[in-house]
Amino acid sequence: MTTMMLSCVDCRAEYTATLRYACEECGGILEVVHAGGPPSDAAALVAPEVTLGEGGTPLLRARAGSAEGAIWIKDETRNPSGSFKDRLVSAALTTALGFGSKGLVCASSGNAGASAAAYAARAGIPAVILVPEQTPAEKMAQIAAYGALLVRVAGHYSNSYAMALAVAEETGFVNVTTTFINPYGTDALRLVGHEIHAQLGETAPDWVIVPTGSGPLVKGVVQGFADRGGRTPKIVAVQAEGCAPIVKAFDEGAAEVQPWGEPKTIASGISDPLIGYARDGTYTLRLVRESGGRAIAVSDDEIIQAMKVLAAGNGIFAEPTGASSLAAAQKLMARGEIRPGERVVCMVTGHGFKQFAIYRQMPVHEIRVEADAPATVITGALREITGPGALH
Ligand SMILES: [Zn+2]
Repeated sequence: MTTMMLSCVDCRAEYTATLRYACEECGGILEVVHAGGPPSDAAALVAPEVTLGEGGTPLLRARAGSAEGAIWIKDETRNPSGSFKDRLVSAALTTALGFGSKGLVCASSGNAGASAAAYAARAGIPAVILVPEQTPAEKMAQIAAYGALLVRVAGHYSNSYAMALAVAEETGFVNVTTTFINPYGTDALRLVGHEIHAQLGETAPDWVIVPTGSGPLVKGVVQGFADRGGRTPKIVAVQAEGCAPIVKAFDEGAAEVQPWGEPKTIASGISDPLIGYARDGTYTLRLVRESGGRAIAVSDDEIIQAMKVLAAGNGIFAEPTGASSLAAAQKLMARGEIRPGERVVCMVTGHGFKQFAIYRQMPVHEIRVEADAPATVITGALREITGPGALH
């Protein structure tokens, strides 16, 4: 722990590395500063002692014809609890246990809570997970399965966020909420940039597209590529049309992000109105602009289309938030903002099992047959999908 410090991203006040969630001087976001300069590889970061095998996820080229252009998918669904949050929680919890924490608290729209509950179970400590009452049932079931105390908080995510602050204060447990509140968690996300850089043969893509709530993953990707030296990709922060505070500020050319009203989208993982911490969004907006990228909103219909392309066209089963990056890539390509031949990485952040209900509503190829039905019943249905030439 002696090899790092905390520094305010706004006023640059410095602090020794302890459990601290905001700058005492200005209330700003704290980031980890490593002695000896930016870490050039994973070995220079905190080795997670509480681990379930997170990170090191595949980078898969999208199948030709399934999506136009040169698209790669960073498949974060492979993480132990099914989302990229595992990277963050593993590091935040490892650090906190070093500081003597006896339990954890996490406000979440579902994925971070599932991750925090999983890693608390792994560490053998209690977990309090606070989620909006409208959180998808699959995510709540996962949180509860790991043995955490699941607290359903009335209203949207920001209410859970505020209550987590109070519970952490009251219990002395570490707050691993995955906004910018835990600098050690955010710091672990720079490995995403390192991995993509290595997986593309030590080069940077032209674009990285990131589903964005408050934005720690944007910071992680930016920092990771900066660590490796050379060009930084343009970052696209994707939000849902029904909850897009950062996109609104980007489109208006505003310097500051304003909190959103009531979120309305199937993309639960990025359904974050930033009420009470709009400053997180402002910081993310700054990072996006500095990268030369943009913020963009996608509709729920565009997300569902992208889910189908990922699943039926590429074999990747993603939740709506995870597919929002591909939806944004397709939109930007159609508009010509992403030019032909440019290399695009889509962060697919969460697994389809986490919002299974959305898939159950989609039309599928399905027939029911009697046990003694002839195979021709099935081949008939198959021909409707394949056309006549595919069968012998
Ligand atoms: Zn400060």
